[in-house]
Amino acid sequence: MQYRSFNDFKTSILGFGCMRFPIDEKGNIDEEKTFNMLDKALENGVNYYDTAYPYHNKNSELVLGRWLQTIDRDSVYVASKSPVWLINNIQEFDEMLNKQLERLQVDHLDFYLLHALNAERFNKLCDMGLFEHLADVKASGKISHIGFSFHDDYEVFEKIIKHYPWDFCQIQYNYMDINYQAGDKGYELAKKMHIPMVIMEPIRGGMLANVPSEIKELFNSYDDNSPASWALRWVMAHDNVMCVLSGMSNMDQVVDNLHTANLDLNLTDRQEKIYKEARALFNKRIQVNCTGCRYCMPCPFGVDIPDNFKVYNEGFIYDLKDKNKKEYQFIDESHRSNVCQKCGACITKCPQHIDIPHMLEMITNTYQD
Ligand code: SF4
Ligand code: SF4
Repeated sequence: MQYRSFNDFKTSILGFGCMRFPIDEKGNIDEEKTFNMLDKALENGVNYYDTAYPYHNKNSELVLGRWLQTIDRDSVYVASKSPVWLINNIQEFDEMLNKQLERLQVDHLDFYLLHALNAERFNKLCDMGLFEHLADVKASGKISHIGFSFHDDYEVFEKIIKHYPWDFCQIQYNYMDINYQAGDKGYELAKKMHIPMVIMEPIRGGMLANVPSEIKELFNSYDDNSPASWALRWVMAHDNVMCVLSGMSNMDQVVDNLHTANLDLNLTDRQEKIYKEARALFNKRIQVNCTGCRYCMPCPFGVDIPDNFKVYNEGFIYDLKDKNKKEYQFIDESHRSNVCQKCGACITKCPQHIDIPHMLEMITNTYQD
């Protein structure tokens, strides 16, 4: 395992994202499998575990808390996030933090983030006077480092990062998203300001793990590491990155990611060129820029928005248009794109700014006879 030292902490370059734990037939987190994966990560040097209040229908913090009881809590960094959309005043912020500490069965969080900040949420927090309050929260010992995770345009990122002396921040970043949201510009700004970054969506919600054959061949022309490994390595190679989060769902992914975290992270010129070529090949194929984050859900009319986008994208990415017509039929009728009433409720919730009703209409036209 490789580590990054910043200020008073030293984090493993690979972090465990606790939002995609394995689930059982009933849809609950499979705790035995999850604990095995967490144990494996810990045994191999992963010391950063990232959860959040809403993950897994609010069960992620509880499960992680139970796992923490089985290990030396002080051997790891625990990160969670304040669900700022549910918070309307300082008292609610404090109550939520206390509740999260209780759920995680810890007396402090090493890293605490204001979750998924955008312009609207940031303005609300400013009006609440939250930033004046954060020093007191840190002084109480309940939070060691304060940061924010982010989904909005670069201009908003710049405003937020310059507003407060953050200990760290978290952005979506991968070899496809260099000009998206904070992107390269956001990375460079944080580096200049000496604010280390945690990276989320390094594999773009799994999209960069299942790449089309021409991209896989391109990677294999250099080495036999997996496409997911190529995606992670690109992010890990950035020196202002303190930790790259991967939402691991099975042991194979844990093993593959641990392998990546041991690779040489100094990219050669040829590797850099391969990433550029892969980006160009991908861009030709993706139709909808959806990461599967599900922030747009639920739709009041029942459309499963990310599921429809996934089927549609995969049809183009893998040249499976006919097969995917069948996959589309597998989506429950009540969740298909044609159920969309164009009410617009989902549009502002999408951090990728997708014109969701328009894209759903295109999907309906593609698949409905
Ligand atoms: S625009 Fe369509 S998909 Fe979006 S919330 Fe309304 S009905 Fe649902
Ligand atoms: S449409 Fe937007 S909000 Fe919904 S899952 Fe995709 S990226 Fe996330």
